Amino acid sequence: MPAETVDAIVLGAGFVGVSAALALQARGRRVALVDRHGKAAGETSFGNAGIVQTEAVMPYVFPRAPIDIARGALNLDPRAYIRYGALPAIAPAIFRYFAASTPAGKNATARAMAPFLAAASAEHLKLAHDAGSEALLRRGGWIKAFRSARGEDMANREAEELKAYGIRPSMLDRAALTALEPHLSEAAIGGAHYADPLSTPDPEALAQSYAALFVNRGGRFETGDALSLEPTGAGWMVTTESGRLAASDVVIALGPWSNELARRYGLRLPFFVKRGYHMHYEAKGNAGLTRPVLDLERGYLVTPMTRGLRLTTGAEFARRDDPPSSAQLDRVEPFARELFPIGARKEPKPWLGRRPCLPDMRPVIGPFPGKPGLWLDFGHHHLGLTLGPVSGRLLAEMMSGEAPLVDPDPFRAERFGR
Ligand SMILES: Cc1cc2nc3c(=O)[nH]c(=O)nc-3n(C[C@H](O)[C@H](O)[C@H](O)COP(=O)(O)OP(=O)(O)OC[C@H]3O[C@@H](n4cnc5c(N)ncnc54)[C@H](O)[C@@H]3O)c2cc1C
Repeated sequence: MPAETVDAIVLGAGFVGVSAALALQARGRRVALVDRHGKAAGETSFGNAGIVQTEAVMPYVFPRAPIDIARGALNLDPRAYIRYGALPAIAPAIFRYFAASTPAGKNATARAMAPFLAAASAEHLKLAHDAGSEALLRRGGWIKAFRSARGEDMANREAEELKAYGIRPSMLDRAALTALEPHLSEAAIGGAHYADPLSTPDPEALAQSYAALFVNRGGRFETGDALSLEPTGAGWMVTTESGRLAASDVVIALGPWSNELARRYGLRLPFFVKRGYHMHYEAKGNAGLTRPVLDLERGYLVTPMTRGLRLTTGAEFARRDDPPSSAQLDRVEPFARELFPIGARKEPKPWLGRRPCLPDMRPVIGPFPGKPGLWLDFGHHHLGLTLGPVSGRLLAEMMSGEAPLVDPDPFRAERFGR
């Protein structure tokens, strides 16, 4: 049977792929979205902390101070966890991450990210409005709570760095903190309240509402393996459960799995993953939270979700496919119990997700070097929910020759050489 033809195929139906498909569709293209699960948000986009983190202009850099490096290397800092067995495999990428984490590197990323992040909420609100899922975007911002003078210093330093980008959190003392979140224990002495970011109580439902919008507007959602991608004379072809699909343009939006396909076509990126876990908890009695709260000094976050209070962990440095470990969650859960009204675990084992990362903490968005018709939209690290819609817009603008909403150069794959 001959392949059916569409204008563009988007591979991967997480926040990033679904958003790219919608943005291309909005420009009049016939688009097919292909995912191996046959549904949206089956992976990383399912289990994140749900914050549209528009304040996250300063990238999460690798520590540079010797004392912080030593604490990290010895797994003494609960914000990160190293699987030592994975080190030989992941060391080169981690070294690139360290090397990119200079003050100059950090500032270059902040400059590129600031205008991009500034547009992120509006793009979500537009999609949620059209999808009828505005109720899944909650206002009220989020809080970085601290336990000590050292934590307060950290929060103040972060706030100081953000001033240049027009982002100003309200600094809360204990009374102001409990006015917002009355059930936080006395372990929290204050916090920084970032009031503007939206958050969602159900990232999976939000992504699926965007995918339903895409289908309602005439988009095709197919089940298939992206690794079946092959070049044809005129473009590209993918095999799905309903047959072969051909298109002149294909977007790789496979999140943590993107690198495999990129390498197959000769693009070698310093790609790595920061894994992270979540667990839901019952609230104790009638206690609860109304917005996400980060324990700044311990590096985990608790947020009210449809399924319960969701605790998400910081970064685990491991190979993408290493078996899950409960070590990171087991380590921070007692800290969470000190601070939050959490009761029993609601699931037998933690959910594992993988943040797709490049060393400069910027996604790769733009053409695949030397492969006409192939496009890249991945590596959104800690911010893929936040940046999915705005990345889709930027990519669609580049693919359509429109004026891009931000300078695309800092996001091009060529920044790592060819
Ligand atoms: C614990 C944790 C907390 C986080 N909190 C936040 C937050 O608060 N805010 C935020 O903005 N970001 C957050 N993130 C990051 C965010 O979740 C990710 O950046 C984002 O989900 C990445 O989206 P994606 O679409 O690129 O990848 P994914 O959601 O992983 O989607 C990739 C898709 O590709 C598909 N796929 C893979 N291989 C194939 C194949 N061979 N064939 C077909 N399909 C395939 C998968 O099935 C999947 O659907 C968090 C991440 C973690 C782990």
